[in-house]
Amino acid sequence: MALLSVEDVSKRFGGIQALDHITLTVEAGEIYGLIGPNGAGKTTLFNCMTGLYTVSSGAVRLDGVALQTQKPHSIVRLGFARTFQNIRLFANMSALENVMVGRHARTRANVLGAVFRGRRTRAEEADTQERAQALLHRVGLAARGQVLACHLAYGDQRRLEIARALATEPRLLALDEPVAGMNPSERAQMGELMQELRADGLTLLLIEHDVKLVMGLCDRVAVLDYGRKIAEGPAEAVRNDPAVIAAYLGSEA
Ligand code: ATP
Repeated sequence: MALLSVEDVSKRFGGIQALDHITLTVEAGEIYGLIGPNGAGKTTLFNCMTGLYTVSSGAVRLDGVALQTQKPHSIVRLGFARTFQNIRLFANMSALENVMVGRHARTRANVLGAVFRGRRTRAEEADTQERAQALLHRVGLAARGQVLACHLAYGDQRRLEIARALATEPRLLALDEPVAGMNPSERAQMGELMQELRADGLTLLLIEHDVKLVMGLCDRVAVLDYGRKIAEGPAEAVRNDPAVIAAYLGSEA
C-alpha cells in the first residue's frame, strides 16, 4: 500500500477549479516532487492533504487512513508534517523553543502539569529539550539554539522550520518551496539535508520551483497545470515529456 494516496481529489473556489480530479501516490521512502507553473494548484493540494482545506470531492489517505475529514493537528499526530511557503516561526522565541513547540504534538503535558510541575512533567520537559537540541543538530543549527528565530538568517529559518516539523515525528514530511529565496550554496545544502532525511527513513514530498533541484533530488515527479496532473514519473521521463515542456519547463528543459 502507498504511504500517501490522493484519490480523485477536486477543489473548487467559487468559479475556480483549483484541483481537477487529481490522483497520485507517494511510496514510503521516496522523495516525490510536485511542480507546475504559478497557480497550478500545488499549494492547494498540500492544503487539501494536510487538513487546511476541505476537498470538494475525492479522498486522501495516509497508510490507508482517510485524512480528508480530519483536522490539521490530528493529521500531524498520524505522522504527516509540513512546512509552509511563507515561514511560520515564533519570531520572539529561541530556535530551541521553536523546536520544543513542535515536540508538543507528542507529549502528554497539560495545563495542570505545567502549573504544578510534577516529576513526570519535569522529566518530559527535559526529554523534550534534549530531543529538540538533537534535531537542531540534525539540521545544522546546533550552535544557534539560543538565538531568537527572528535573528536567524533566512536559510537558517527554513532549516528551523524543518526541525520543528521533525519534532512531531513524521513518517511523511511535506515541504512547500523549501529553497525559495536561498542562494546556490544554501540550496545545495538543503538538497543534502533532504537526502540525509530520506536516508534516516523519512518520506518527503516537495513543492519546488527550482526545477534543477527537483530533477536532481526526486525519485518521481508530478506536474500540475491548471489544476490537472499532466505528467507523472521518474524525473528524467517527466523532463522530456512534451506536454510538460509546453506547459512549464519551456527553455529550462
Ligand atoms: P504558486 O506556485 O504560485 O504558489 P500554486 O501551484 O501553489 O501556485 P495555488 O496557490 O494552489 O497554486 O492556486 C491554484 C488556484 O487556486 C489559483 O487560481 C489560485 O488563485 C486559487 N486559490 C488558491 N487558494 C485560494 C483561496 N483560498 N481562495 C480562492 N482561490 C484560491
